[in-house]
Amino acid sequence: MDRVDILIVGAGVTGLAAACCLAERWPDKSILLLEKHETFGQEITSRTSEVIHSGIYYPPGSLKARLCVAGNRLLYDFCEKHQVPYRRSGKLIIARDEGESAQLAVLARQAQENGVTDVEWLDRPGIARLEPHVEAVAALLSPSSGIFDSYLLMEKMAKIARRNGAMLVYRQLVIGIRVLEAGYQVEYQEENGARDVLMCRCLVNAAGMHADALAAMAGIPVDQAGYRIYRCKGEYFTVTNAKAQLVSRLIFPAGIRELKGSGLPVIKDVSGRLRIGPDAHYAPSGSLDYSVNPANAAQFLAIAGNYLPFLEAADLRPDLAAVRPRLLVPCGSPPRDFIVCHETERGLSGFINLIGIESPGITCCFSLAQMVGDMLNGVFAGT
Ligand SMILES: Cc1cc2nc3c(=O)[nH]c(=O)nc-3n(C[C@H](O)[C@H](O)[C@H](O)COP(=O)(O)OP(=O)(O)OC[C@H]3O[C@@H](n4cnc5c(N)ncnc54)[C@H](O)[C@@H]3O)c2cc1C
Repeated sequence: MDRVDILIVGAGVTGLAAACCLAERWPDKSILLLEKHETFGQEITSRTSEVIHSGIYYPPGSLKARLCVAGNRLLYDFCEKHQVPYRRSGKLIIARDEGESAQLAVLARQAQENGVTDVEWLDRPGIARLEPHVEAVAALLSPSSGIFDSYLLMEKMAKIARRNGAMLVYRQLVIGIRVLEAGYQVEYQEENGARDVLMCRCLVNAAGMHADALAAMAGIPVDQAGYRIYRCKGEYFTVTNAKAQLVSRLIFPAGIRELKGSGLPVIKDVSGRLRIGPDAHYAPSGSLDYSVNPANAAQFLAIAGNYLPFLEAADLRPDLAAVRPRLLVPCGSPPRDFIVCHETERGLSGFINLIGIESPGITCCFSLAQMVGDMLNGVFAGT
């Protein structure tokens, strides 16, 4: 039976970053990544806004806040070093009335607490100088927010992970985990239905939408642990090219739907395309429906038209839909924090769960990977 030191499940951005960083940290350890699709990035990471967040929106002290602030710098450094296209375009977080200006004040304080120190207040003339076609009474400028190409990021990570000695094997679905005295026996299935097993000392669960199912395979009572993932769908609409040039930065309303607000982000990507979204609504569990309902354009227009006054119904085209791996919260509460847990208390030494890795998960990918490495340090210290 094959045996590896570290098995990573999932070749989205979380698993790829772990493969890259762990292989660099431990060149003498055998590292294997198994992915069920024919290549990397076929699930959550292929349908995102491609924003490098600065860390303003997340509660102080949360993993999302800490890992985002650290991950922002690590991701820019990686993109620069490995020629992944990116732009430090900056983001305007806008207020449309006094109530939202008060929300901006809260976000400005939160930014400071989170260590995002480059945020500037803008009044109407300040906004007009940067974004003359955006309607807002006040804004926070976040210069360290940016955009990047997520496909090329993952392609580069996969290359580097391999160069550092990690093995990435596609078309392998992990279907079972047996807990051994020191490690795990993992059963996996190839596309043709053939099954095999391997042993690993450590297992990193980076299975995205299916991370709860993988935890359950190791015997973790998912509901009791609070690990159950619910699907929260988001749709995007693209703005026609003629109007896309009227905006040059990321425009985020003070309250965004993703975080239980009412506004929709406006995303200017590295190719110059302008998109509005994602919105947020719960999707039936089990469904991965990526269709965009063209009728929702009216609602997008009603919301985004408040701050993009040039927008007309004919400017919006359905773009893509995505599904967030959201951890359950009581009705009306904000989203929960990431779960990054070395499951030693459950007697699962070397088993790391990464669950509920929704936005800003890409921005955090390298800081998450560093955290995983730090957690595994102890396992290898005595070997
Ligand atoms: C609409 C939307 C917009 C977003 N925008 C941003 C953004 O602008 N900036 C940002 O920082 N973050 C953003 N995020 C968050 C970010 O996209 C996610 O945090 C990140 O992509 C999660 O990556 P992942 O590797 O954990 O999951 P995935 O990319 O889904 O990867 C998990 C992989 O595991 C594989 N897998 C699952 N089960 C098994 C199994 N049993 N055996 C083998 N393989 C398995 C899957 O096939 C998949 O490839 C956004 C998320 C959404 C939904």
